Amino acid sequence: MAGGGYNAVRHPLPAMPRQSRSSLKNRASEVVRILSRHYPDARCTLDHRNPFELLCATILAAQCTDAKVNTVTPELFRRWPTPEAMAAADLAEVERVVHPLGFFRQKARALVEMSRDIVARHGGEVPRTMEELTRLRGVGRKTANVLLGTCFTGGGVIVDTHCSRISRRLGLTRHTDPERIERELMTLLPPEHWSIFGHLMVFHGRAVCDARRPACPECPVLHLCPEGALRTGAPAALREAAG
Ligand code: SF4
Repeated sequence: MAGGGYNAVRHPLPAMPRQSRSSLKNRASEVVRILSRHYPDARCTLDHRNPFELLCATILAAQCTDAKVNTVTPELFRRWPTPEAMAAADLAEVERVVHPLGFFRQKARALVEMSRDIVARHGGEVPRTMEELTRLRGVGRKTANVLLGTCFTGGGVIVDTHCSRISRRLGLTRHTDPERIERELMTLLPPEHWSIFGHLMVFHGRAVCDARRPACPECPVLHLCPEGALRTGAPAALREAAG
């Protein structure tokens, strides 16, 4: 479905009139409402049975598709099912299992070192706070947000490449730094929408809002999107979105 025969528009985001915070918040909530109906199955697509497995899978998903990670993790979790087992694993063996995913040396080392930290500092239990999670080797803010939003509570918005790109196209942020985007989105959305917003962006990015060829005429939030208005030549939509 992505593409739709429309060429990428190479220009900066349109200069939009200043919008009130309430207007931006309403637009963000409307995006969540519409895309939740459009993608009722939006969720984390990394296969896992517990927080440790999700932590491993999320680390492996860097620069790689979730579908590809899911082909490797059954064998990984069969051989090293717990932080204790992974902490004691032979690094070369882990490298061999995750080799198909690319960056296999860094990823294997991250799995083993992260597991050693969990064993040494948390008694073998995956910690449940952003602060503790991001102190584990190989665990950044995005990985921690995936874990908190899926298995625990207290996570923010998961900002990956889809979320970053689409949020800017929708005019919800002008930042490019993931942490600044996350903080801005968290001011626009209620906490109960933080986790689902990231998943909706991933589903929408895969299905419609492609990085190079977004299918704007098919997009259910075209009327809310300044970038889509420019691409489709619909200034009325831009004015509406600009509020
Ligand atoms: S209108 Fe186009 S640019 Fe905007 S969110 Fe939809 S597909 Fe993406």
